[in-house]
Amino acid sequence: MAAHIPVTETTCPYCGVGCGVAVQGAGEAVAGLESHPANRGRLCVKGAALHDTLDLRHRLLYPEVDGARVGWDTALDAVTRRLRDTLARYGPDSVACYGSGQLLTEDYYVANKLMKGFIGSAHMDTNSRLCMASAVAGYKRAFGGDSVPGCYEDLDQADLLVLAGSNAAWTHPVLYQRMVAARKARPDVRVVVIDPRRTATCDLADLHLPLRPGADGLLFNGLLAWLARHGHLDRDYIREHTGGFQDALARAEADSGSLADLARRCDLRQADLERFFHWFAERPRTVTFYSQGINQSATGTDKCNAIINCHLATGRVGKPGASPFSITGQPNAMGGREVGGLANQLAAHMDFAADDVDRVKRFWNAPNMVSEPGLKAVDLFQAVADGRIRFIWILSTNPLVSLPEADRVREALRRCPTVVVSDCMGDTDTVRMADIKLPACTWGEKNGTVTNSERCISRQRPFLEAPGEARPDWWALAGVGRRLGYAEAFGWRHPAQVFAEHAALSGFENDGRRAFDISGLAALDQAGYDALTPVRWPVNRHWPRGRRRLFDDGRFHTDDGRARFVPITAALPDDPPGAGELIMNTGRIRDQWHTMTRTGKARRLLQHIGEPFVALHPRDARRHRIEDGQLAHVENRLGAIIVRARITTDQRPGELFVPMHWSSPFSARARLGALVPAITDPLSGQPESKFARVRVTPC
Ligand code: SF4
Repeated sequence: MAAHIPVTETTCPYCGVGCGVAVQGAGEAVAGLESHPANRGRLCVKGAALHDTLDLRHRLLYPEVDGARVGWDTALDAVTRRLRDTLARYGPDSVACYGSGQLLTEDYYVANKLMKGFIGSAHMDTNSRLCMASAVAGYKRAFGGDSVPGCYEDLDQADLLVLAGSNAAWTHPVLYQRMVAARKARPDVRVVVIDPRRTATCDLADLHLPLRPGADGLLFNGLLAWLARHGHLDRDYIREHTGGFQDALARAEADSGSLADLARRCDLRQADLERFFHWFAERPRTVTFYSQGINQSATGTDKCNAIINCHLATGRVGKPGASPFSITGQPNAMGGREVGGLANQLAAHMDFAADDVDRVKRFWNAPNMVSEPGLKAVDLFQAVADGRIRFIWILSTNPLVSLPEADRVREALRRCPTVVVSDCMGDTDTVRMADIKLPACTWGEKNGTVTNSERCISRQRPFLEAPGEARPDWWALAGVGRRLGYAEAFGWRHPAQVFAEHAALSGFENDGRRAFDISGLAALDQAGYDALTPVRWPVNRHWPRGRRRLFDDGRFHTDDGRARFVPITAALPDDPPGAGELIMNTGRIRDQWHTMTRTGKARRLLQHIGEPFVALHPRDARRHRIEDGQLAHVENRLGAIIVRARITTDQRPGELFVPMHWSSPFSARARLGALVPAITDPLSGQPESKFARVRVTPC
């Protein structure tokens, strides 16, 4: 009789879809988890190759201090001593922490508590700033809280799917598969893709709107004005559940002008624009699915609100098949938002209002509670560069590759007196800059929770022993907390205890206005935590089994319960390319994840696209004397990369696309962040990653 092979039910560590994964034994095979609501048994090619990435090549397995291998006690003593010295000489504002949407919620919670309650520095930010900060700011302005209204079932039920700034076929493949299935089951479903590039997602589109880069806000302002002009508003919904409509409409009308003018400014055919507007008007079940093409912009928050305005004006929020739906890039970007992982947030969706600060301070019994927001990612690294921040702890991310002006980030870390890096890998660009290296557990070894794009909390469960001396991040952070003298506050022995505290804080003095409330999970013991099945928050006495959609009752998290229209003046990027310059867009490819530390190990994931490239239109290739397959320099005043040219009419003339993934050790000459200027959205702090002026020349 065959031996029984245990199966571990866990969650994929890659994108924000958050698919459930069934792992056989110690990673011998993986399959989609049928019972998980996100994927119902499906996996994309990255998820299906997870078991090919479990080897220990390039792993960081032992702590190091100043290049010497040490034990954990020595390493954490060194972290604590340098932290204490920095605090004593320069104060709490000289200390920063930079986390990641790769962290589990428990890791994130402990980092945030340590920084904002006990060290007394609010400079705790995360690479989620590069991913969904604009969506957060947009939701907060419109709904009074960072709340995604809909759920994935809405993709199955919508009659119109509008994908704005999303190449879901590559970046969120399992959700794209759901859209394909919905379309097949109901041929009347219409799909509109709004994207300057013709991407793989356009294969599903009935209409592709290849708009001018950055014109999304203008397009949705034009839609709002057109809906009003043609009598397609839901006036009852606007009157009963919203505020600020007239101001937003007046601004949209002034901004967008006539349809012909709008089409000209968006660089679209008027007939296509009109067709989209008619479909939007005729199909109440509309999901607008938006991602980094909207968020990663100097006006990303306004773009999000221009989309939400159209949904509010037609009463399409929180209804089956009808919501604005931001899709996060990372596996736990949402969990980071829940614990306050962004510098302008406190834990459990609280802000820096005096009563929130006081509430968190009392809950934590925190001696050094912060009272003002900290520095957002780009500003935080600028403060490292100019010496205001002298101690930084970076967890599970590679800012030397991913942040804008990445060469300046490298210089900043070079000058920083203490750089601590916790990572599972030992040879990333960022780890190489560390004075203290702390080996972290990775997928398959970690134990905790993540929250996906539809607010669904799932377990990541271990099925491997931690190799070498790798340890969970929450454990290392808590070790420093105890060494600082806070034994009780950081005394957890198991991630279940961290999760229970996080859940209790979410319900602490929550009168219902804070959307994030999982107090119904606060009493989970270790066995309950181990057995936790996926659940969409809130989970409390009103919603003990979670809640599929928010705002379906027409009540929002503002003081008066009404959603807010936000008047938008849709600015186009004001830095047009000069003579000989092109606009560079950045993004992901189908089979790689972030800086490839895991996916780069799986040979089959390099078969789709095996090297970094620049995609450009044939006209630009001719003008710049570049042939298909040739190596090309892409450069600007900030830096230069060398990548392979791909000539394609999928690009608009004058525009390039370069993928974000390649860096050391896979390709040291394609570190894209070096070319992206550090221009940010003034509200969200999210960098503009879709509009860099560059030159391209043959090598
Ligand atoms: Fe699902 Fe995303 Fe993982 Fe693919 S990468 S299996 S879509 S979570």
